[in-house]
Amino acid sequence: MIQITMPLNFLGTVYREIRQSLIDMGDMFDLLEQPQEVSDKPGAKALKVTGGEVSFEDVHFGYDPARPILKGVTLHVPAGQTVAIVGPSGSGKSTIGRLLFRFYDVGGGALKIDGQDVRDVTQDSLHAQIGVVPQDTVLFNDTIFYNIAYGRPEATRAEVIEAARAAKIDTFIESLPEGYQTAVGERGLKLSGGEKQRVGIARTLLKNPPILLLDEATSALDTETEVEIQSELKAMGKGRTVLTIAHRLSTIADADRIVVLEKGVIVEEGTHDELLAAEGRYYGLWQRQASGEEDEDRSVVREAG
Ligand code: ADP
Ligand code: MG
Repeated sequence: MIQITMPLNFLGTVYREIRQSLIDMGDMFDLLEQPQEVSDKPGAKALKVTGGEVSFEDVHFGYDPARPILKGVTLHVPAGQTVAIVGPSGSGKSTIGRLLFRFYDVGGGALKIDGQDVRDVTQDSLHAQIGVVPQDTVLFNDTIFYNIAYGRPEATRAEVIEAARAAKIDTFIESLPEGYQTAVGERGLKLSGGEKQRVGIARTLLKNPPILLLDEATSALDTETEVEIQSELKAMGKGRTVLTIAHRLSTIADADRIVVLEKGVIVEEGTHDELLAAEGRYYGLWQRQASGEEDEDRSVVREAG
């Protein structure tokens, strides 16, 4: 009994953490007999992604209906474009990502991908089309090969190595005594934040989804590693629809559009240049970060999760 209960408890904890931190685990739901917040409609069809256009239409949401978090968010990410969401900690940025992955259903309004309401499609098909690069990539207690191949378990060895190369982690892996067979995770080799992040990128590259969700994907890294990984994320975003949540504004300045979220409301949107010229909220955030107040801000964000 104990042997059975313990892993289930452990999985339950992992599941909650996954949902909270938006870790991409596709069919983790099937693995766990946890009560789910959402379920497939009878006869739900597979999501058909044509271009990968994402639309939030007047979306309202609260984890507790008595406490609204998103208060009428309308946000379009045209197919193949990058839209960045910025704003203070607690404004609801990660919640937008959780709704896209349908960890929860909207309380009002609708969320569509290429015109299909996410409530009308199977969760498996939805999760298969979205790649998530979270702030902290979770590694399984298994080989580094397994951890990358998790993105597409049927991938060949050559494909896994190619993904590692594209994520610039191949040289590191090859330098390990056991190479791709090296055990990582809690019981194996501990990887640095930057190395874990590259494993996460390799995993997502292998999955090759048309839609990417980056939630403060590099905010746990030191500046130098962040700059390197950002350029890899940018390369990964080419030809895909990208919704990126960023704390450090310099990393999203070249997004096709930037929206500023405050207390669950979009208060400003435009390109970096337009928003600076407007001298509004974004301009204020930019000035603050440029004057070096951001490190203090960062620790606040990390505490708030
Ligand atoms: P951001 O990513 O902008 O920092 P979040 O979307 O994570 O903000 O959170 C927005 C608000 O929702 C915060 O007030 C937060 O405390 C609350 N919140 C986040 N996750 C949950 C949850 N699982 N249950 C209840 N409230 C939550
Ligand atoms: Mg967040």
